[in-house]
Amino acid sequence: MNKLRPTKCVYCGSSAKSTRDHVPPKLLFAPPLPNLCTVPSCSDCNKSFQKDDEYLRLILTMRKESFDNLGAKAVLPSVLRSLQRPRQARFTSSFFRQCGQIEMRSRGGLYLGNSPGYTVKWSRIERAMARITRGLFYYEQKKPIPKGHQVVSWAEDNLYLLSNNLQTQLKQKLVLPLIKETPTVFGESVFRYWFKFLSETESNSVWLFEFYGRTRFIAFVADRDPNRLLERLGDKLNPSTDKEKPTPA
Ligand SMILES: [Zn+2]
Repeated sequence: MNKLRPTKCVYCGSSAKSTRDHVPPKLLFAPPLPNLCTVPSCSDCNKSFQKDDEYLRLILTMRKESFDNLGAKAVLPSVLRSLQRPRQARFTSSFFRQCGQIEMRSRGGLYLGNSPGYTVKWSRIERAMARITRGLFYYEQKKPIPKGHQVVSWAEDNLYLLSNNLQTQLKQKLVLPLIKETPTVFGESVFRYWFKFLSETESNSVWLFEFYGRTRFIAFVADRDPNRLLERLGDKLNPSTDKEKPTPA
């Protein structure tokens, strides 16, 4: 971990003010913290993640799917404390402004009426997913995502927004075969992930993250159209693959 050569930030490539960034974000965990992976990050990037991390934790722990999850329950007091902190006043009021009656739609997009809830700022969540993908990519590959590659992510619950064909492909060809493999686990019931590379020489890959036992996100690292990558990955993913990954202690 202690290298003599200057370490470049895995997020922006800068060599300035190198710090270690925890991936996944450590505030998703209640103490005692499990052994998390850390990656080199400049202090500007590291600081810039703080609000996204808080927002991600808030959205994940407020989901009804997380209510019976031990990891989410353990961190809930910190979430509530953080909402009450004076310096968080703007963050808190903006979150509560987004609470109210929201439109409910069926998976097919049909309007089902209004229900109490909150609107999720997806741009924030996507930024958080891209950062986790970049961090874990470095952790697994010992190199940052090469320039010219993009990271695209979807919440599993939002897949209904995609075309039927793409939805089916994502679920049948990627999610189902991937979750049959052994995940890497950080903190029991908090975070686990799976990934698959298209080939040993490419950085094109698919990543599946699961938070608090339920909420899943799919991310692609792609050097071209992610839809074409999806097809190639789908053909490669074979449910009988017997890759075993050790889980960190
Ligand atoms: Zn940076």
